[in-house]
Amino acid sequence: MFYNLREDIDKLNYATTISKMIYDVTEENIPAVDILQLFLNTLYVIAETDKNIELVFCVFRIRLLAILGFLPQISKCVSCGEPMLEEMEEFYFSIKDDGVKCKVCQKLDKSVIKLSKTTFSALIYILSCDSKKLFSFEIPKEDLQELELFCKIYTLQHLEKEYEVVKF
Ligand SMILES: [Zn+2]
Repeated sequence: MFYNLREDIDKLNYATTISKMIYDVTEENIPAVDILQLFLNTLYVIAETDKNIELVFCVFRIRLLAILGFLPQISKCVSCGEPMLEEMEEFYFSIKDDGVKCKVCQKLDKSVIKLSKTTFSALIYILSCDSKKLFSFEIPKEDLQELELFCKIYTLQHLEKEYEVVKF
């Protein structure tokens, strides 16, 4: 299975890091069907497609945390309840309070990460789409960098561990 992983050192490194994360968040003899399905889907996409591997890693992390019960509030400001609107150009995500904040409330929060409309839409998609369509989207490079930064901090916040991929 997933023979292609052995032929590409980057793919192998990502697969190894993903396996480590799965190992850390699961326990023996406790059923974890959703996690297993996500794990296999992710390995498949890495092994069998040319999809941007950093994007795949981001999608995997956000979805894994969601399955584990970490669902950020993204429809309204976590502090004052103001709804987030589609026409907004940028969004502020509070790592401390695990959700979005409006323009006013974000000023008082040092843990806020600014996200573009595209990055924010990607986040909503990853959290809510059907598992079969999880990897069926693309994102421009600058937004991917933003999403990667978000994922890194968000994962560290919830799993209290950094998962770095060795790159050659
Ligand atoms: Zn607010």
